[in-house]
Amino acid sequence: MTASPLRLRLDGAALVSNWKLLARLSEGAACGAAVKADGYGLGAGEVVRRLAEAGCRDFFVAAWSEARALADLGVSVSVLHGVQAGEMADMPAGVRPVLNTPEQVARWREGGGDRCDVMVDTGMNRLGVSIADVGAGLLDGLRIETLMTHMVSADEDVPLNERQRAAFAGLAGRTQARRMSLANSAAIALGRDYAFDLTRPGIALYGGVQRSGHAGIRQVATPEVRIIQRRRVRAGETVGYNATFTAPRDMEIATLNLGYADGYLRCFSEKGRARAGDAVLPVIGRVSMDLTALCVDAAPELAEGDWVAMDYALPETAALSGLSQYELLTGLGKRFDRVWE
Ligand SMILES: *Cc1c(COP(=O)(O)O)cnc(C)c1O
Repeated sequence: MTASPLRLRLDGAALVSNWKLLARLSEGAACGAAVKADGYGLGAGEVVRRLAEAGCRDFFVAAWSEARALADLGVSVSVLHGVQAGEMADMPAGVRPVLNTPEQVARWREGGGDRCDVMVDTGMNRLGVSIADVGAGLLDGLRIETLMTHMVSADEDVPLNERQRAAFAGLAGRTQARRMSLANSAAIALGRDYAFDLTRPGIALYGGVQRSGHAGIRQVATPEVRIIQRRRVRAGETVGYNATFTAPRDMEIATLNLGYADGYLRCFSEKGRARAGDAVLPVIGRVSMDLTALCVDAAPELAEGDWVAMDYALPETAALSGLSQYELLTGLGKRFDRVWE
């Protein structure tokens, strides 16, 4: 296969180190991994293989198609979107639905489903059965592996965090669930009270930093891009669509094989940066669909065919671009070769 002029360099050691840090922060609770959206864009199969080898036992995806893609790896996978009519027929071994509604609970009971997970809503109002329904016996007799809830604002210090924690803790012993699970990445950094029996980090595994407790999380993904042309632009000339950039002096420009169709969105116009060794190379003009221009005055040796690394540390890049750390990863397109090291 011909190599793509775009590669996403993935640091497998950093991924494992992040999981081990989150497992330590989970203080005795088991630490799983959210690998939905193809492992937040990194490639779910490779992420699961590495984390399973490190000792991770519980994986979470959104949809059945994602679970099926992992079926050969022999790990336990929970499907967060539950089970719709017709989906019970071809469920791979080792995969459990996270039941979200009374209808799904009824479907699971009628279909003779084995062990399942259940989501309880404690404030998100998105997915999950209500606490009142649990109190009224909705889950009585159901063979539940993990009873879970999901935090609304764990990346902020708001009273809702403790309200959700307390509401969920109040369900202890109310069902036959073997384990209880509340914490995403941000909630893991809220302390032991939030860890319950199993934590479910996602973004922090992949380099996301949302709270001071995440200090020590390492960057995992770095986009690397080939230069497809280098040119000199004279003072007063413009670069790119709509001539938004006018060269204030004669400049050296490199045109990169990268654009918004790859997930490098137009918000990086005039803001993004790349690096070649120690040289910092600013994006100039508008990012277009497949191309981005850099000023390479600081790297006189760079030539057509050379590679540069885009600045992509998640917290800094989110602040710079206005995109969330999640969007930065899950938006990276199919044209990147995912290259693990
Ligand atoms: C995505 C998701 C997670 C992981 O969240 P992060 O913020 O990425 O750590 C955990 N639990 C559920 C239910 C999710 O949907």
